[in-house]
Amino acid sequence: MLNTLRKIVQDVVQEGDFAVSVKRLAAHIKDALGTEVCSIYLSSSTDAGYLLAATDGLNTHQVGEVLLARGQGLVGLVGRRAEPLNLESAPSHPNFHFVPEIGEEPFNAFLGVPILHQGRVLGVLVVQQREPRKFDEAEEAFLVTLSAQLATSVAHAEAVGSSIFAYSSLSPVEDGHFKGFAGAPGIGIGTGVVMHPIADLDAVPSRRAKDTASELAQLDRAVEAVRNDIRGLIASLQTSLPREELALFDAYLHMLDDGALPGDIREEIHQGEWAQGALRRVIRQHTRRFEVMDDPYLRERGTDVKDLGVRVLAYMQRIREQRSQYPENTILVGEEITPAMLGAIPAERLGGVVSLGGSGNSHVAILARAMGVPAVMGALDLPAYELEGAEVIVDGHYGDVYTRPSPARLTENRLLLQQEQVFAEELNDLKELPGVTRDGWQVQLWVNIGLSGDITRSLDRGAEGIGLFRTEVPFMSKDRFPTEQEQRTLYREHMEAFEPRPVTMRTLDIGGDKALSYFPIQEENPFLGWRGIRVTLDHPEIFLVQVRAMLKANAGLRGILRIMLPMISSLIEFRRAKGLIDQAYSEVIEEGVEVKRPEIGVLIEVPAAVYQARLLAKEADFMAVGSNDLTQYLLAVDRNNPRVADLYQEVHPAVIAALREVARAAHAEERPLGICGELAGTPAGAILLMAMGYHVLSMNATHLLRVKWVIRNIKRSDARRMLARVLRMDTAEEVTAFLHKDMVRLGLSKVMPARSTTQLH
Ligand code: PEP
Ligand code: MG
Repeated sequence: MLNTLRKIVQDVVQEGDFAVSVKRLAAHIKDALGTEVCSIYLSSSTDAGYLLAATDGLNTHQVGEVLLARGQGLVGLVGRRAEPLNLESAPSHPNFHFVPEIGEEPFNAFLGVPILHQGRVLGVLVVQQREPRKFDEAEEAFLVTLSAQLATSVAHAEAVGSSIFAYSSLSPVEDGHFKGFAGAPGIGIGTGVVMHPIADLDAVPSRRAKDTASELAQLDRAVEAVRNDIRGLIASLQTSLPREELALFDAYLHMLDDGALPGDIREEIHQGEWAQGALRRVIRQHTRRFEVMDDPYLRERGTDVKDLGVRVLAYMQRIREQRSQYPENTILVGEEITPAMLGAIPAERLGGVVSLGGSGNSHVAILARAMGVPAVMGALDLPAYELEGAEVIVDGHYGDVYTRPSPARLTENRLLLQQEQVFAEELNDLKELPGVTRDGWQVQLWVNIGLSGDITRSLDRGAEGIGLFRTEVPFMSKDRFPTEQEQRTLYREHMEAFEPRPVTMRTLDIGGDKALSYFPIQEENPFLGWRGIRVTLDHPEIFLVQVRAMLKANAGLRGILRIMLPMISSLIEFRRAKGLIDQAYSEVIEEGVEVKRPEIGVLIEVPAAVYQARLLAKEADFMAVGSNDLTQYLLAVDRNNPRVADLYQEVHPAVIAALREVARAAHAEERPLGICGELAGTPAGAILLMAMGYHVLSMNATHLLRVKWVIRNIKRSDARRMLARVLRMDTAEEVTAFLHKDMVRLGLSKVMPARSTTQLH
């Protein structure tokens, strides 16, 4: 049975078209259980009930047409109870509901199992047969196992807005509300632009076609769609492009004539290959022919063939072309928004970001925060592909997305946005003022930096220093390691801009989710792998170049250079890194460049370092907590995985206890202590950290003035009282609720953004 199961799952997962997958699945299950009917019901996109999504054995014309209300019939019962129902004679069950159109009247035996994903019922799998029969336990277990495996694919298909969930007589959801995670604060109201991953011809596997006719039909549909696109393009460019240039598009159309590329692809399909594989082969053959030509013009034509191939593939995979024009207030929506996608849109057009993947701690979210663009991450249920051109509201404070909002919700959010803008102006007046509490306690408010453009943003908001320079960010945009001179120039630019303020340079922190294209690291478990200091200690040549560049960049400046070491998990690592910094210092002095000795600090982001904080504090000049990673490692929650993002709790009592432990160690050794994780940039986090005695809060420039406002409007004595209460709490939920309530009590609600309250549909 295990083998059958594996084969079924593999077959289904490999199929690109979800509707075809579930149809196949139904047929497989029917065969495997030797029964007469297998049907798959899926929760409809409007949440109105369970929609017949596939069947083998019942009337297939009713697929997409029959909708059972939530509690209706045996299917509804399975869904409501979220457990299997195994009946010898279904019609005698009180919940039996007869649907004449689908032809299930003669069936007695019924076994239904729910399709569950993250505790939510996404659908119901049903097998039936005429003869009364009680499916045995092994059969029930088989179906439960299959359903559990299917659940991920269903959730994914739902997330990408597969039409299979759409009840034929309903239009797209009006005033939809979808939950994700707060990615970057702010409210964005604008027009959805859906970003797709680019169709990748090279990634298409070879596979035998099951049904030649349907592969041929798929090819015809895709080719016709591309021909239409090209005709449209010709029409729209008719007036602006000269005839000779337009001829290129005519050539494209000719290549798509039946006798040309499609003819060859059809041949491959007849040989038994599936449509996508046949397309890849034929395009490859043709481009090869062009690539070996001497004439550079003809050689270039290979690119045209490839481009055509990608366009056809995109239709086969239902991915549409990337766009080049963006509406004002573009709300970027996509399955997995990448930093590159953010970069593709002119900043002044970008009004918000919604990603189905990722979480508030992904680097894309950090990037959005740095750019001041509201973002929601991990909005798994959002029908992204239906949102092209639709009006979308992004509430990056609370992780809410509203699609095609009602006039009432729109008015409300416009008002909230307006209030935010007024408050932002008020915050501007704090730029030059210090971060001092009402009873005179001062904290340093520094910035995390890495992107170009961060300097101006940070200085504009009155940053008093750099608490974290993510040096890997500029490394990422290159195609080789930057030279010492290149690094020196870049670092110097920052140090000069911040002179005489202190600058904390973190040594290269690659690995985990931060890859360099020219230094690939392939690992099963990258966050627990070769990351941060582990990489640079294994590659002293990279480390030494970087440290030398930092030292030289600081030459002649008054600002203090602080070098901070990431991912330290033992004293040995710290001592070895310190040894290398000493070596680099001596080398630079020997070269005759006059530089100051830097301060050397540890980034506390691994639980081991919390327990050794006192020892580390004795040997380091300063310490700073990287609470993003510390939370990830303490709670064993991948900071990028939306499936567990609700377990990533920055104010989990264990995290708070660890932060306090580090503070105590730093105070006992009288070492300066900072924090540069995202927690420092939240008003509630800043209050607790200030109460614990963190001297430096380093954050995205976007948060700086908001945090300063909180600090200036609270007394440290009140903050300490809050901390004392929090330290006695058992759960993150309790902590969050208390902090919220107490901040309101202390008159700080202004800094806590209001949320849309209009009745949800
Ligand atoms: C952290 O882990 O908190 C941190 C500041 O580093 P990064 O987010 O770059 O991993
Ligand atoms: Mg980190």
